[in-house]
Amino acid sequence: MKKFFIGLFIVGLMMGFTVAADDEPLNIIAVFAHPDDADGRIAGMSIKWARMGHNVKFVSITNGDAGHQETGGARLAQRRRAESEEAGRIYGIAEYKTLDYHDAELLPRLDIRKQVIREIRNWNADIVIGLRPNDYHPDHRYAGTLVMDAAYMVVVPNIVSDAPALRKNPVFLYMRDRFTKPYPFEPDITVIVDDVYEQIIDGNVAHESQYFEWLPWVAGNLDEVPEGKEARREWFKKNRGRRTSITPEMKANLVKWYGEEQANKAVHGEALEIAEYGRQPSDEEIRQLFPMLGETIN
Ligand SMILES: [Zn+2]
Repeated sequence: MKKFFIGLFIVGLMMGFTVAADDEPLNIIAVFAHPDDADGRIAGMSIKWARMGHNVKFVSITNGDAGHQETGGARLAQRRRAESEEAGRIYGIAEYKTLDYHDAELLPRLDIRKQVIREIRNWNADIVIGLRPNDYHPDHRYAGTLVMDAAYMVVVPNIVSDAPALRKNPVFLYMRDRFTKPYPFEPDITVIVDDVYEQIIDGNVAHESQYFEWLPWVAGNLDEVPEGKEARREWFKKNRGRRTSITPEMKANLVKWYGEEQANKAVHGEALEIAEYGRQPSDEEIRQLFPMLGETIN
């Protein structure tokens, strides 16, 4: 009898997935500054969307060609492109693209805004995820500005006429950050990612040039980086594995979407804030755009 109910439960789950996949799949695009910016912030929810049959694309505006202490230029850009593609493969997303603008030199220029508009339109995006324009890194700030400058313009046909304008304005969202001035990040949507946590780590550690070379060099702890794939993975988890920790604000938001019981059990989560410049979704629409909300994890 117990087996029968478990069977019924699995069929129910599969039907849930089929319904989501049979409906038009959702198109999600994240646009950010460097090839690794999205990995620590939205990899888990992206894995979940991809598993449900939705189309997720990551776009790094710069090619990352400044992010190393020994190499640079085209050679570094090529290496980082390969690392990103590997991370994207691990997440199961449709594409992890790297545009060719120089790292550490990004400005909110009109030509780049047009390219961002093109990317969003060509993906026929329902959801656009970017960075907030409050950040320590100028590339992050300007990547955030570029995405918000594209909001609304994506529906204006006379702008970037080589890519057909969208007929409906997507929902624009910000990834989580720790900056508090002029105002702190406010989680509107929080996804529990405990069940895909190891896969998030696997994708992140594909960025070898960053997590085991460049960033430890900047932090002055390059000599602590161990040799060997498994040891490095553990080291990464110890140093950066808490980036998906749940803040009190995220916890309160989880109660809204998952209920008290799931929220209390959750250890890792990823949060987004709804930008005021795109479409303003109702809670019902948010549940359609984020079909993983409310699922039973633990
Ligand atoms: Zn970055």
